[in-house]
Amino acid sequence: MIQDIGAHRFDRSYSLARPEDGDVALCYLPGKVLLRKVEGGYALPHFSDFPAELAPDREKCMHLFALDGAGCYLADPDPAEEQLPDASWEYVSLQMIRSVRPMEVAFTAITGAQLDRWYRSRQFCGRCGTRTEISKTERAMVCPKCGLTEYPKICPAVIVAVKDGDKLLVTRYAGRPFRGWALIAGFVEIGETLEDTVRREVMEEVGLRVKNIRYYKNQPWAFTDTQLVGFYCELDGEADITLDRNELCESVWLGRDEIPSRENDISLTAEMMERFRLGLEK
Ligand SMILES: [Zn+2]
Repeated sequence: MIQDIGAHRFDRSYSLARPEDGDVALCYLPGKVLLRKVEGGYALPHFSDFPAELAPDREKCMHLFALDGAGCYLADPDPAEEQLPDASWEYVSLQMIRSVRPMEVAFTAITGAQLDRWYRSRQFCGRCGTRTEISKTERAMVCPKCGLTEYPKICPAVIVAVKDGDKLLVTRYAGRPFRGWALIAGFVEIGETLEDTVRREVMEEVGLRVKNIRYYKNQPWAFTDTQLVGFYCELDGEADITLDRNELCESVWLGRDEIPSRENDISLTAEMMERFRLGLEK
């Protein structure tokens, strides 16, 4: 999965440090991140890689986290796409990050994008409208007037693999770019336990009851500011699907041999489907 970066060290410690030559500059345009094409994949750009006229202003860059000891900074200003010096520099669509390798580059780029989006959307206090400031002690935006403190947006959501013997319930979402099979998924609502969310989402999306809800794994999913929590469960009662056409365009029961392989996918959904397909999830 995208957070599985092997022996690489991702350090989330908060810091007010300033960038040095070997540190990483994360540049974001709407929906895109600046990467460097290298043999066999992509690399994160270092401050020392930039030609002088495109170099971010180190006094304005903000420390986000560190990868393998190199600080990763939100760059400012971001070079315009037409200013890029040659074809080795590329603003890659965040939609395409799923296929970027190595994984530590993909994970760093998308996690930085989540923080970039959050900082941009918390410029003013939601209570009194004063311009917010960056906290000096923790990852937060603070209102200097009323003290309101905002932390990064991370919304819990469930992914649900509903089993009925040797069949798995799969879905296709309406109105989203991803066209492959998915699992039932949805955000946790106020006052719910995660198991409540599982039962409600399955009932809302396909009109089925479930039992034996069992936690599997979870995954930070920066694409949608989400913490995805995966559950397997079993059908309880009738298997006839009543589709919520606002959310889904299709939902069917697939046998293990009908599920397409997604072994190189980065998502918890794919891993859960793959486990079922391979018979690892009885
Ligand atoms: Zn305020």
